[in-house]
Amino acid sequence: MDDEEHKQADVLIVGAGPAGLMLAVQLLRYGIRPYILDESPDTYNHAGLLMILARTLEYFRQLGLEDELRSKAIAANEQQDLPLDDFLLIHPSFLVRPLLHRLGDQACPIYWNTSIAEVSAGKKGLIIQLNQDGRRHELHISWLVYTCPDPVSRKETPSPRFSDHRRMYIGRATGRILTKPGQSINTDVQDAVNLGWKLALVAGGKAVPALLDSYKIERQAIPNDPLVWEEKAVLVPQRPPMGNNWLGTLRDALLRRQLRNPTKMRSFREKLSQLGISYRHSPLSHHHAHGTQFMAGDRLPDLTVFDEKTKKNTSLQQWCNKPGLVLLLMGTLNKNSLFVLSQWVLNKYPEILQLYYLPYSPANDAVFGAFELKPDAVKMIIIRPDMHIGYVNDTISAGLVETYLQGVIGMV
Ligand SMILES: Cc1cc2nc3c(=O)[nH]c(=O)nc-3n(C[C@H](O)[C@H](O)[C@H](O)COP(=O)(O)OP(=O)(O)OC[C@H]3O[C@@H](n4cnc5c(N)ncnc54)[C@H](O)[C@@H]3O)c2cc1C
Repeated sequence: MDDEEHKQADVLIVGAGPAGLMLAVQLLRYGIRPYILDESPDTYNHAGLLMILARTLEYFRQLGLEDELRSKAIAANEQQDLPLDDFLLIHPSFLVRPLLHRLGDQACPIYWNTSIAEVSAGKKGLIIQLNQDGRRHELHISWLVYTCPDPVSRKETPSPRFSDHRRMYIGRATGRILTKPGQSINTDVQDAVNLGWKLALVAGGKAVPALLDSYKIERQAIPNDPLVWEEKAVLVPQRPPMGNNWLGTLRDALLRRQLRNPTKMRSFREKLSQLGISYRHSPLSHHHAHGTQFMAGDRLPDLTVFDEKTKKNTSLQQWCNKPGLVLLLMGTLNKNSLFVLSQWVLNKYPEILQLYYLPYSPANDAVFGAFELKPDAVKMIIIRPDMHIGYVNDTISAGLVETYLQGVIGMV
C-alpha cells in the first residue's frame, strides 16, 4: 500500500467478513470501488456450519455466485426433512470464497493486517490514519462502513446502531443480537445488500445522503422474536418420546395440524427462510394500487414468467436482475405510450433505471393473478436493486416515476 494510491476513496469497509465482502461486491456492481481492510492476516473462518437461508441464496443468485456456493454445501434442503424453503448448510470459509473470487476478478484488493488508528473529520469527509505492518498511512474517504465494533474506541455498541454521520454499521457492527438459530449470518449479509445500492447511489453522487436514513429504518425493524413453539419443534432436534410423553405427542399433533393449513404453512416457511422480510413501513415504500397481495416494501416474488421475446420461461427475479432500479410495466399498453416512456427512461435515467414490459398472455396468467391485475388493466411497479418492491401504481405515468425517484429515493 502506498500513500499516493490511498489518498482518496469513496468508501472504506472495515472488516472482510461476510458482511464486508458482500458490501464490497454490491458496491462494485454499481461502479463504486471500495477499500477493504481487516486487522486479521486472513479471511473469515470458524468451526461449525452455517445455515444459509433462501433469501440470502437469492442474493448470491442475483450476483451469479449461487452455483459456486451450492457446489460446496454440506447439505441442502432436499436432503433434510424440514418445512423450510431452500437452504444450504455450508462451512463458513466456503461462504466467503465466491465473494473473494468476485473481488479478485475485479482487481479489488483487500488489505489484511491493517487497522484503523485514528478517524478525524476532513473538509469533505473523513481522514483515516491506518496502521499496516507498523507503518502509518493516511486515507481520505467519504463514507466509512464498520462490520466490527468501532476499532478506535474498541467499545461494544451499547444498543444496536446503524449509522452515525458518514459512518455506517452493518453485520456484526450493528451490535444486534438475534435470538433465532441460523438468522445471524443471513441478517448480517442482507444488511450489506440493503446498504450497498443506497451507498453506491450516494457515493456516486446520484442520490442525496438522506437515502441512507432508510437503511437504519429498514434494518432495525427486522423482527427478532424468540422462537415460537412451532419453530422450536421444527428447528430444534427433538428427543424421541420416552415412555408416556403425552406433552410431546400433543405438541407434534398440533404442529402437524398447523402445517396442514396452507396459509399458515406459507407464512411459517417465509418467516423461517427470511423470504417474508418486508419493508412496507419504510419511507421508500409507496403503494398506490388496489391489490394488496404484494405491496410496496415486499420482496419481489420469484414467479415464473414467460418471456415473449425469447419464448422461454424465466423467473421474475432473474428477468428483472439488472444493477439499478427496474421499472416494470404490466398489462395492456399501446405501442406509442410504451415507446415514449422507454425513450424518456433512456434519456433521463440511463444506466440507473431499466424498463421492462410484461404484456398479458395466458402463459403469464399466474403473474397477473399474483399482482391482482386484469388482462386489460395496467400496473406500474418500481423494483429496487435489492429486489424489494419500492412503488406500485395502477396508473402508468413518467411524472409519477419522476416523483418517486426524485422525491422519495432522492435522485439528483
Ligand atoms: C464461532 C462462531 C460460530 C458462529 N456460528 C453461527 C451459526 O451457526 N449461525 C449463524 O447464523 N451465525 C453464526 N455465527 C455468526 C456469524 O459468523 C456472523 O453472523 C458473521 O460472522 C457476521 O459477519 P460480519 O462480516 O458482520 O462480521 P465478522 O464475521 O465478525 O467479520 C468482521 C471482520 O472484521 C475484522 N475486524 C475485527 N476488528 C477489526 C478491527 N479493529 N480492524 C479491522 N478489522 C477488524 C475481523 O477480523 C473480521 O474479519 C458464528 C460466529 C462465530 C464466531
